[in-house]
Amino acid sequence: MDIRNDGYTGRFAPTPSGPLHFGSIVAALASYLDARHNDGKWLLRIEDIDTPRVRAGADRQIIDTLEILGLEWDGDIVYQSERLGHYEQALAMLADNDLLYRCRCPRRVTKGKPYPGTCRTRADIDAKPYALRVKTSDRSIIFEDVIQGRLTGRLNELTGDFILRRSDGLIAYNLAVVVDDAGQNITHVVRGADLVDTTFNQIYLQSVLNLPVPVYAHHPLAVDDSGKKISKQDRATDVLAGVSPEAVLLRALHFLEQAPEQNLMRAGKRDILAWAITHWNIDAVRSSPTGKRA
Ligand code: GLU
Repeated sequence: MDIRNDGYTGRFAPTPSGPLHFGSIVAALASYLDARHNDGKWLLRIEDIDTPRVRAGADRQIIDTLEILGLEWDGDIVYQSERLGHYEQALAMLADNDLLYRCRCPRRVTKGKPYPGTCRTRADIDAKPYALRVKTSDRSIIFEDVIQGRLTGRLNELTGDFILRRSDGLIAYNLAVVVDDAGQNITHVVRGADLVDTTFNQIYLQSVLNLPVPVYAHHPLAVDDSGKKISKQDRATDVLAGVSPEAVLLRALHFLEQAPEQNLMRAGKRDILAWAITHWNIDAVRSSPTGKRA
């Protein structure tokens, strides 16, 4: 597989469905520190194509939070809603290679199970609405996750042929993310472990679209007291509500097992980040498939 090593470009790619919560701060900080420690670039991409989840003004709130924390990105912010033409181009390429088909199955067909391929051989679906699925194979997909170690999966056991464009016209996350990671020359993806399984779909798409495969690192997910993922949608409150940026950064560094020094407890955010960039040690971030109490 084509793994790029020419320089380092990382990214943070939040969905603007609400204010950043502690779990998304961990993702932002881990990807930022890994990039800066490696003298790399760190880009910001707002993943705003899943319109039913997008909340007006949440992008601004996210940007403000990153600024308050002192996490400075490089270049212009990319909005996925401005890149729809690129996703359509990728779909056209897959269609040319006979890897795409129309599907009319209701969503409940797949609830928790791989899609059985019911519409793969149907040639009679003309009128919209229909979803577009990509044909997958049963070969093993293997990648070395920097934090989780070697991971192997087969799409026929995970998702089966998966949706790239929904019947309501929305482009699926898996398609947009691979098109954009390649379009922005992302070499390293550092994000939460809730996205580990989607990596198999993404590596598959990279192979059929002839795109490079970045290095992946999935950090443990911050979960609440009941073991559930903290999500932007269920937390109305901002991570900074009543808490200083320094306290948030230190808490996230502890979560990432970076053992911030005692003398940082009274430091300003610039000094905390400077220390964290120098001392960043991704090997200290322990894998935890079940999530970790925030
Ligand atoms: N937009 C996704 C989210 O907010 C993250 C995508 C990614 O890092 O690949 O959960």
